[in-house]
Amino acid sequence: MSPKKNTTLPSAPVLETCFVTGCGTAAGAPRPSRDMVRVAGSKDGAPAHWYCAVRCAPIARARADLRSITTRTRGGR
Ligand SMILES: [Zn+2]
Repeated sequence: MSPKKNTTLPSAPVLETCFVTGCGTAAGAPRPSRDMVRVAGSKDGAPAHWYCAVRCAPIARARADLRSITTRTRGGR
């Protein structure tokens, strides 16, 4: 019997909600605004999205990198 209390994965980065309009839009749509940059998904087939350049784009890129690492070690989803 193992008490399953800790359901929060320490490796999962917690993202605060972004309030910039259009941030997180799928890249199939036209660029929501001039401040948006297109960020490709990870190599496992995640789609690209538009993100605000000031805040979410670097985070999204880092996340894609992290995901490709965890995919290789078969540690994540
Ligand atoms: Zn954003």
